[in-house]
Amino acid sequence: MGDFTLDLNDDQRSVRDWIHGFAADVMRPAAAEWDEREETPWPIIQEAAKIGLYSLDFYAQQFFDPTGLGIPMTMEELFWGDAGIALSIVGTGLAAVGVLANGTEEQIGTWVPQMYGDADDVKVAAFCSSEPDAGSDVGAMRTRAVFDEATGEWVLNGTKTWATNGGIANVHVVVAVVDPELGTRGHASFIVPPGTPGLSQGQKFKKHGIRASHTAEVVLDNVRVPGDCLLGGKDKLDERLARARERARTGSSERGKNAAMATFEASRPAVGAMAVGTARAAYEYALEYAKEREQFGRPIIDNQGVAFQLADMRTQIDAARLLVWRASWMATAGKPFTSAEGSMSKLFASETAKKVTAQAVQILGGNGFTREYPVERMHRDSAIYTIFEGTSEIQRLVIARTLSGLPIR
Ligand SMILES: Cc1cc2nc3c(=O)[nH]c(=O)nc-3n(C[C@H](O)[C@H](O)[C@H](O)COP(=O)(O)OP(=O)(O)OC[C@H]3O[C@@H](n4cnc5c(N)ncnc54)[C@H](O)[C@@H]3O)c2cc1C
Repeated sequence: MGDFTLDLNDDQRSVRDWIHGFAADVMRPAAAEWDEREETPWPIIQEAAKIGLYSLDFYAQQFFDPTGLGIPMTMEELFWGDAGIALSIVGTGLAAVGVLANGTEEQIGTWVPQMYGDADDVKVAAFCSSEPDAGSDVGAMRTRAVFDEATGEWVLNGTKTWATNGGIANVHVVVAVVDPELGTRGHASFIVPPGTPGLSQGQKFKKHGIRASHTAEVVLDNVRVPGDCLLGGKDKLDERLARARERARTGSSERGKNAAMATFEASRPAVGAMAVGTARAAYEYALEYAKEREQFGRPIIDNQGVAFQLADMRTQIDAARLLVWRASWMATAGKPFTSAEGSMSKLFASETAKKVTAQAVQILGGNGFTREYPVERMHRDSAIYTIFEGTSEIQRLVIARTLSGLPIR
């Protein structure tokens, strides 16, 4: 028990302060402009790349932090700076994780560096899984990948939607169906290299929040990629499909399911940490405002009706962070998520961000409702956390199924 601590160590504190400096000095002053422009903030990504904050090395270091807190700490500080710009900086990581999780060492070495580019020529990457008719229901995916024996290439056809950095990415990671009989077990991931003919950007979405982050459809029209763009390689895929067919035949399905679940449980706390960052930013702003704004001859925080809201906001933010840190620590320590603790952290933190940013708008009164004050943007931005990487309803389904062991619908 003597070893138990929630303190960050010296190294973590100095990394956190360094990210905080970038968030405060570079991201915050630019946040309103890029939100209005609704464009990818390339100059900010470039600045992040110059100091090493946008690089494979940096995220790998945080990912392998033995306490598990490197990634949540990084996400919280960046999203405290600004959610839209932060997603433009960390969106590539989603695609990189897709390759790190499924790719061979050679594939990782070839493609992940191309996702980031370098400080003089920064690039971004996209992870394309969602489709117009396959959002929460990943099993409804239709994009097909067919192996062309004659050329040794895979041929991809379909339409992806909601892809962060879709169409502007150097490297796209695309999930597609290789065996429609097997449901989600018949899916595989592919690299689409830069400049591949047949891949194009469809509609770019005009969004409610995180508007500095580019979100678009990606159309795949007879996209041909070399055989070695199948992540993990064909032998491994064939073995996996044979096992899935055998399981389908014998009715045993648990192992594959558990592996996929464990991956989600480990990645969801990172989204929870983003939500904590936005919530904290709005809370801090509202606290200072409430101390300064006077009505009826005294600061509005003198009213319990305002002060108690701030007390609740802070309590919920701290509770959300603790859930995120617990799940991140569990992932790193290899603890089994017997109660879907990763989903719990994402559910609670994302709902907290929505609630806290709405309260911040209320505390700022009319000012909170204008674009002159940042809480208006934070409130819009916070709505994404209960939607992407699994909606709140899907998190509740996962938690309920895990707790009950029943296939609750
Ligand atoms: C800004 C943004 C960025 C994104 N980035 C990416 C990305 O980079 N790559 C990618 O692949 N995807 C991305 N997504 C897609 C995102 O993951 C999906 O939007 C999300 O999974 C929900 O799918 P959907 O939008 O189709 O909603 P639907 O699945 O249609 O859900 C609609 C509503 O029904 C509810 N619902 C659905 N099924 C159930 C159920 N069984 N029980 C109870 N309620 C249910 C949902 O909770 C939701 O409230 C992004 C989305 C957005 C908005």
